[in-house]
Amino acid sequence: MFKRPGFYQKLKFSSNHVPGQYSEICDGHLYQDRKNSGILKKNVLSLQWYTDGASLFSSSNTEVWPVYLTINELPYSERYKKENLLVSVLWCGPVKPPGNILITVMYEDMALLRNAHEGEQEISGVLINGTADLPARAIMLNMVRFNGASSCQVCEQEGVPRPGIPGVRLFPFNEDTMAPRTLQKMLEYSESGTELKPTKGVKGPCGLASVMPNYVLGTGIDQMHQLFGGCTKKILSLWRSTKPYAKKWSISQQEGVVNQHILSIRPPLHVVNIQNGGAGETSASTSGGTNDEACGSEAINDNTLQGTQENSGSNYDFFTGEGNLAERTCHQDDFDLAAFST
Ligand SMILES: [Zn+2]
Repeated sequence: MFKRPGFYQKLKFSSNHVPGQYSEICDGHLYQDRKNSGILKKNVLSLQWYTDGASLFSSSNTEVWPVYLTINELPYSERYKKENLLVSVLWCGPVKPPGNILITVMYEDMALLRNAHEGEQEISGVLINGTADLPARAIMLNMVRFNGASSCQVCEQEGVPRPGIPGVRLFPFNEDTMAPRTLQKMLEYSESGTELKPTKGVKGPCGLASVMPNYVLGTGIDQMHQLFGGCTKKILSLWRSTKPYAKKWSISQQEGVVNQHILSIRPPLHVVNIQNGGAGETSASTSGGTNDEACGSEAINDNTLQGTQENSGSNYDFFTGEGNLAERTCHQDDFDLAAFST
């Protein structure tokens, strides 16, 4: 990578964080903490991990699990380009990989990274954050699967089995039982937890603890299952429901106000229209329904969320589904809510 002309020049080692404003990983608490303590500085890369499994062939039990590392210092538009991804580990086998084995290999790879050079400069890297879908995150965090007791990776609530539907666990909203997970507690649980007898969903030590400053805060919920599917999508469909039973919570009466707000949104330039690619992305997932199960919702209905397009001549109505959404020209600063209708 560093041998490619212009690559080093693209890296931005100094972030101009404005307190209270968050638009990037570099604005986050973890990054700023490492920067203020002098660990993240010029020529030190902060890295993000991502992993998931895919069948090697159709109807094959053999799965391939790559662990990718991305460089947070690259501009967002460059960060996820194929040529800028580091493939740290490639697992291939008939069983799912133990997360700690993947992390051990990744750790060795990062030691090699410390020897990379740019001219006379020495470049090093720190793993700071990462994400995956629910099953993959459970593997990486050495926790029970998403439908097990205390399987939530964000809070400590135990959840309850869904009556009559084996294998599904509900997490009813109850603030008293939703203590957020902390690094200190997770390290405690990892000392006593085992595969057969997990403590608060933790099955033993997690290798990420030795390669990340705070693997509990640094492991996020992936945006596909949080925003484009899962809980957020379900909540949005409930809010806009016009069914009688939804009267208690629906805001469908306020469609004018909501439309006005949506049209006033001007997201950053790197947000693009992903309407056509979105459906494929969802169906390619091996675990598309897991978040819905985890948050206790039923399968998402066919109502997709549609938006209005201000500058494309569209007069589509967000709530009634009436109007014309034919024109799909996307100006870079247009907010296309249809992007969420995956
Ligand atoms: Zn939770």
